[in-house]
Amino acid sequence: MKTYLVGGAVRDRLLDLPVHERDWVVVGATPEELLEQGFRQVGRDFPVFLHPESGDEYALARTERKAGRGHTGFEVHSDPSVTLEQDLMRRDLTVNAMAETDHGELIDPYGGQADLAARRLRHVSPAFVEDPLRVLRVARFAAYLHHLGFTVDSDTLALMRSLSESGELATLSAERIWNEMARALQTGNPEEFLAVLEACGADKALLPELSAAPGARDHLGRATAANAEPEIRFAALCSGLERDQVEALCERLHAPNRFRELAVQWATQEQSLRGPAQLDAAGRLQVLEKTDAFRRPERFAQLLDTLGAMHPEADADFWRNALAACKEVDIAAIAVAGVSGREVGMRLRAERMKRLG
Ligand code: ATP
Ligand code: MG
Repeated sequence: MKTYLVGGAVRDRLLDLPVHERDWVVVGATPEELLEQGFRQVGRDFPVFLHPESGDEYALARTERKAGRGHTGFEVHSDPSVTLEQDLMRRDLTVNAMAETDHGELIDPYGGQADLAARRLRHVSPAFVEDPLRVLRVARFAAYLHHLGFTVDSDTLALMRSLSESGELATLSAERIWNEMARALQTGNPEEFLAVLEACGADKALLPELSAAPGARDHLGRATAANAEPEIRFAALCSGLERDQVEALCERLHAPNRFRELAVQWATQEQSLRGPAQLDAAGRLQVLEKTDAFRRPERFAQLLDTLGAMHPEADADFWRNALAACKEVDIAAIAVAGVSGREVGMRLRAERMKRLG
């Protein structure tokens, strides 16, 4: 039995990037042998195991054959005779298809090192088109490695285009798409993720609401330049969309609530937040109420961070001060015995408006 480091850890080490996780491939072994050594099997369809101590993923060398539609439509073949080269051949990109022995010797049958040097994301084999998830992965790697000058090879882009045209993207689950998108949002250049999806025509199937929106890439680039967190980047991406478009996009992607809520609020309140001078006291209070600022101050703070990232000239402090001033209203003094709930609400709003005039 032989074990090799593979995938992202090899790639990122050669690029002098931090390595966050290590994936291993095991050649010449059976599942029983790994189980005897204390590994735990995790893959239902694939022979993938977790190391008893490190928790790293160890996969038995395998080959795959297309046997149905979509990302999971594969017939997997794994036995001790499958070679390392065969296993590397089923991988998506040459830069992801290198392995390293425990003596640090590099095994690179498909030109991964040359492609690293050429800053090129290139498919390993024509079987690339068998898995539509690869379109998203390549777009994510393009975003992740953009700062080093990486681009997608033109032949690979052509394969991605034919995948887009085949209709296979429709077989990807919302979770898979969101997972790649969320990871892309955390890279240094998430706007490249969109650019690559656009370049291969995948945006229309995957993110139709955004593909029709002018400026989505610019907005995302602006939020990223301001070093904003992923939720804010996503909200920025939704800048200029109608509320129902944002909701449709979030529904399509099963975006977590913390992304969805901020994006919807930003899309609906951007203009008001930019121009408090154009609002009267009632309008200002309405902004605080519609954004649920009193009950959700952390999210309101994120909304103001979005404002700061997208419109640095805007007066985010106006809103911080406005909220603080409204919070000074003494509710206990208003909600005294004998005053109806409705009356309390009206007096509270009146007092708050006095502080927003
Ligand atoms: P990172 O973990 O930094 O995102 P990675 O390249 O390690 O990047 P993983 O998703 O951890 O990506 O996968 C490990 C390796 O498995 C990849 O480098 C690639 O060789 C292979 N791989 C993963 N998913 C696919 C896929 N859908 N098609 C082909 N190969 C894949
Ligand atoms: Mg990995």
